[in-house]
Amino acid sequence: MGKIKITFPDETIKEFDKGITTEDIAKTISTSLAKKAVAGYFNGKLIDYQQGLVENGTLKIITKDSEDGVKVLWQTGSILLASALSELYPKMHFGEGKVTEHGFYFDTDNAEGQVAETEFDKISQKMKELVKANMAIKYKVLNEQEALKAVDGDPYRMELVKKAAAENDGQVAVHVLGDFVDVSDGAKLATTKGVKIFQILSVAGAYWKGISSNPMLQRVYGTSFFKQKDLDAELKRRQEARERDHRVIGNDLDLFFVDPKVGAGLPYWMPKGATIRRTIERYIIDKEVSRGYEHVYTPILANLDLYKQSGHWDHYREDMFPPMDMGDGEMLELRPMNCPSHIQIYNRHIRSYRDLPLRIAELGMMHRYEKSGALTGLSRVREMTLNDGHTFVTPDQIEEEFKQTLQLMVSVYSDFDITDYRFRLSYRDPKNTHKYFDDDEMWEKSQKMLKAAMDDLGLDYYEAEGEAAFYGPKLDVQTKTALGGEETLSTIQLDFLLPEKFDLHYIGADGEEHRPVMIHRGIVSTMERFTAYLTEIYKGAFPTWLAPQQVTIIPVKNDLHLEYCEALRDRLVANKIRVNIDERNEKMGYKVRQAQVNKIPYILVVGDKEVAEKGVSVRRYGQDNTKEVKINDFVNEILADVASYSREAE
Ligand SMILES: [Zn+2]
Repeated sequence: MGKIKITFPDETIKEFDKGITTEDIAKTISTSLAKKAVAGYFNGKLIDYQQGLVENGTLKIITKDSEDGVKVLWQTGSILLASALSELYPKMHFGEGKVTEHGFYFDTDNAEGQVAETEFDKISQKMKELVKANMAIKYKVLNEQEALKAVDGDPYRMELVKKAAAENDGQVAVHVLGDFVDVSDGAKLATTKGVKIFQILSVAGAYWKGISSNPMLQRVYGTSFFKQKDLDAELKRRQEARERDHRVIGNDLDLFFVDPKVGAGLPYWMPKGATIRRTIERYIIDKEVSRGYEHVYTPILANLDLYKQSGHWDHYREDMFPPMDMGDGEMLELRPMNCPSHIQIYNRHIRSYRDLPLRIAELGMMHRYEKSGALTGLSRVREMTLNDGHTFVTPDQIEEEFKQTLQLMVSVYSDFDITDYRFRLSYRDPKNTHKYFDDDEMWEKSQKMLKAAMDDLGLDYYEAEGEAAFYGPKLDVQTKTALGGEETLSTIQLDFLLPEKFDLHYIGADGEEHRPVMIHRGIVSTMERFTAYLTEIYKGAFPTWLAPQQVTIIPVKNDLHLEYCEALRDRLVANKIRVNIDERNEKMGYKVRQAQVNKIPYILVVGDKEVAEKGVSVRRYGQDNTKEVKINDFVNEILADVASYSREAE
């Protein structure tokens, strides 16, 4: 038998018999390691603990307490789930099983009826039986014919087999658990025993391979951990995330909906959601106008040539909708970005250095082709309206304009009470400068300028080399989403390229033509993403100034108090307060609870006493106590609340 050389992470090299497993190697190191270990990381790939090594390579032994160890557990969870499902539903077909950020899933298709949540118990029971039986999970490499036979006519797995065979000289790696064959080489535990602690989480539709013209499969999600306390923590995290999920809150509060039947990724804003959006839009337009921005409206369609000139058609085409052929040679394109439109505004007149900085802004609607599998509520959509702005500056004005944009950003964040964010300054990769717009001096100078501006304003930031766009350095604001991910909320992006492409000029003090620099910036991102984000950080309890309904008035008795309530409502409406009277024939306690479920900031109760004293009884959302105040005082209080963008009344 031949020998192979194995290199370990500490760079020691040892020789073993060809075909030795990671398990046997672990045993030669220590028995305690062999017990804790679950897999190997061999030549850059996770492999089964009992898979034979047949070539020289580097090996890291993967233990339970590592991230990779948990990944192996999840891969085992996925085959355990599929195996249980195949026993319970003999006619079920199977796609792929994969690991996610928080667990695993398997794609399934059952002609006789899809898996319902009510069947989770039954499926868990079957999985537990398989765990208890401590069944072996075997890694095998088959040839294409054997593999096709093994998947027994399952159309999805046959496709996977053919793909794997084509990529690996006719060889197909599979894992086998009982009668189930998983066309996957992802490392798994040697037996089912390790997946003792698991939970089936949910089911959702998913197109085969993520392509919407393919059949819709049913994706069954689960998770698993080596320790019960880790599973408990994960379930708690999911519960918290669910409570904040803007899709759930958006549905409960009737803010928006997306219906794939009328257009996947194309949101409909219901009246309450539209009110929130309109409030954000008015706010941001006012704020920008007060800082020297000129707001414009430009079309969402343009001649395709515009996007050829801008370079979007060459570099960004896969994210764009296909052009519309108008039949007379004209090709129209739904715009993927607003920049070329604002360049037309710049170019409408000859610009002098005295006109700069020229700040063009728009709530610009754009369309991007996102794969249907990536679409998520309001946060990943195909039609979006960006709080977009483009400032045209002389090279000398970059630093000052960057600072002003930052100050605008910080001020907006403060008004929305957004505190959990980080600034990321993105530079070009100094080792690969050829990958970027070719002007070394410009890069050096502008990167220094951005850094100086951040330091000058005393803002905390981190620097990321290689994260810049091709055409210039940028600043991103990274925020945490409720689901634990990171998202870019705002961007300031320098651009030296588009002014070249569109041959932009301004007349300098010297009377000569010069090239301006363009700054792309978005402060509150798109209306869709920002509304989703705010819904999650506020958990649906919008601060008074944003709340779709700010006040509900509840008469104790309609016949006695309604007239007074109507006068009160008219007074509030005259002050631009969004208010309704709840005059339904329901008990008062019920109406109060309903107002709280709808997270309405102010509940006003009116009975005999209030009518007699020209007052109201006020209860704030989230508080138990009520207070009696005169109407005048209440009006002043709520107006101050709205004006200060505060989340809590003073
Ligand atoms: Zn732009």
